[in-house]
Amino acid sequence: MKALRVEKPNNISVVEIPKVRLEKDNEILIKVKAAGICGSDISIYSGQSPVATYPRILGHEVTGIVEEISKSVTKFKVGDHVIIKQTESCNNCYACKHGRDNVCVDLKVRGVNIDGGYCEYITVPETSAYKIPKDLDFKTAVLIEPFTIAFQACSRGRLQKDDTLLVYGAGALGATVIQVAKSFGCKIIAVDIEEEKLIQAKNLGATYAINGKSPTLKEEIQAASENYGPTICIDSVCNPKSFEFLVDIVGNAGRVVLMGFDTRVSEIPQFKITARELDIIGSRLQHDKFEKVIDLFARDIIQPKDMISHVFHFEDIEKAFDVIASKQFRKIVLTF
Ligand SMILES: [Zn+2]
Ligand SMILES: [Zn+2]
Repeated sequence: MKALRVEKPNNISVVEIPKVRLEKDNEILIKVKAAGICGSDISIYSGQSPVATYPRILGHEVTGIVEEISKSVTKFKVGDHVIIKQTESCNNCYACKHGRDNVCVDLKVRGVNIDGGYCEYITVPETSAYKIPKDLDFKTAVLIEPFTIAFQACSRGRLQKDDTLLVYGAGALGATVIQVAKSFGCKIIAVDIEEEKLIQAKNLGATYAINGKSPTLKEEIQAASENYGPTICIDSVCNPKSFEFLVDIVGNAGRVVLMGFDTRVSEIPQFKITARELDIIGSRLQHDKFEKVIDLFARDIIQPKDMISHVFHFEDIEKAFDVIASKQFRKIVLTF
């Protein structure tokens, strides 16, 4: 079978490898139909990921059809349409035993430190796949994965209907957060420095859209939150300054949810956190969010179709990387 493998940074090619086979009793074999290219795939390709190992078959946003099942599989039958989970975990450590397998001490992430789904076939344990509706096309269904990341951030922030959520940065990540948050019925304030993204944020369901370059940014956020401050801030800018800013702006008893991997230092005095009893919360990948997001897709609460800007056959990966270099794209999906 063919696969797309990064041999070393900046070197990706189509390779011929032996077709995968069912090896354990609980596995399903999937004929891959579509896979998304995500920011993290691009950073693994270019050698900027602190967690990737090489050589590596990329791909963690992967949909396909169940082609074969092992003998003890009960959740699927041949012909089911599925999306696969990004990770595998040990099921035995503290995190795993407390419903936090996404931060397992022995975490394996597909396309990062184990091989992913940029290949014609893949096998996964049945617990690592989720059924998707047959009327949802495989390319669109790829987008379920990024929405699980957004759902995780909302759920880590304990988002509820009476919250005022500040989504700081309304790019690809922020836009998914806004759409998931809308399903909670809360008030949403989007901040971005690009006018186009602010217009999009409004269209996606933000109650307020504020330009991050405004000299009165803080005052505008205060006004949009009845002078209390947002009760949850989700940081999709992910740099040291955004963290500092959100700790400043969040309201009493509020939560600041961080999603970035920036290793630089933010300067935050403890007084700011203790005096208002803030929660500073990390959010990584997802736990148990696929079924929730699939439900939002099935009920048309999330309408992701126009998020896809380009579709390429996986053997045309060079063309996909030309588009990435041009920076003029939203979501690129590969077909298999
Ligand atoms: Zn992704
Ligand atoms: Zn574990």
